[in-house]
Amino acid sequence: MQNKWIRVLFCLITIVVFMFGCKKTETEKKITREIFAMDTIMQLTIYGDHGEEAMNEAIQLVNRLDRLFSVTNKESEISKINSSAGKAVLVSKETYELIEESLQYSEDTKGAFDISIYPLVKAWGFTTEAQKVPNDSQRKTAMKKVDFQKIQCLPKQRIKIDKGMEIDLGAIAKGYLSQKIMELWKQKGVTSAIVSLGGNVQTIGKKPDGSSYQVGITNPEDGTSLFGAISVENKAIVTSGIYQRNFEENGEVYHHIMDAASGMPAKNNLASVTIITDNGVRADALATALFVMGEEQAIAYQNMHPEIELLLIRKDGTYWASKQVELI
Ligand code: AMP
Ligand code: MG
Repeated sequence: MQNKWIRVLFCLITIVVFMFGCKKTETEKKITREIFAMDTIMQLTIYGDHGEEAMNEAIQLVNRLDRLFSVTNKESEISKINSSAGKAVLVSKETYELIEESLQYSEDTKGAFDISIYPLVKAWGFTTEAQKVPNDSQRKTAMKKVDFQKIQCLPKQRIKIDKGMEIDLGAIAKGYLSQKIMELWKQKGVTSAIVSLGGNVQTIGKKPDGSSYQVGITNPEDGTSLFGAISVENKAIVTSGIYQRNFEENGEVYHHIMDAASGMPAKNNLASVTIITDNGVRADALATALFVMGEEQAIAYQNMHPEIELLLIRKDGTYWASKQVELI
């Protein structure tokens, strides 16, 4: 009799161990997808249960937001706002929310971040293969059209820009997307994940082996090798750099991060700016804005906002990092 109970107990222990074992392998399941959207290759990875459904919904989200925000797709909501300049346009909750947030970053960075920069981006040919230095009159004409204060978020989800103006969410859309993917995945119970959307990385939790995610920082000198890596948990890591899009004319390199005040690519000693913080939208907007500000103002901004971590890599290969940043 006693033997029988010992056997039952042994069976129960075996079942529990087996279930535990299965659970462990299940939580280590990895699902990865690669997708081209927003002009870049995006890699999405989830570890653990519920991954398939969470991944499929994320892919739908990527495609939906790409369709809404693309400035080159004539059917997008951004194109509709641009082609209807002077009139109010009804937009989705997402477009309205992102434009509203963009305006807050413009206020907060005194115009260093400005989504109405598009006429300048076009004047420099960054929307096409034919990049060129505009002449003074082309540059000044474009500059007159740039002013975030003339973007209106009206009641009932309507957006209006002044006639002649055009907006472009290129400096913030990927950060919004990674933020929304993370929110979706957390709701679905995902506890470990990483997305890499061009220069934008965002993570949930730790890797299945219990270690932190390590995110590489590109060496701006060549745009391909690694400058270093940082260890993160539940963070967005976004880099804006001169290596991401540029052209050379008469021996001078011109990049795509514009200073609305000069109508020129922001000219300073920086080669890249990396922001590490909890929110992807904030990281993306501030990486662009702090690049435009330049080293001194960027450091002053970080001092006033210690919750953001900052890494500045200079053109001469040296760097400045806020004290939380540990380059590996
Ligand atoms: P990012 O790589 O996030 O720094 O975004 C750069 C892209 O945003 C450029 O290719 C332009 O389309 C646009 N852009 C350039 N300068 C600015 C700026 N000062 N504020 C907002 N968007 C900008
Ligand atoms: Mg940005």
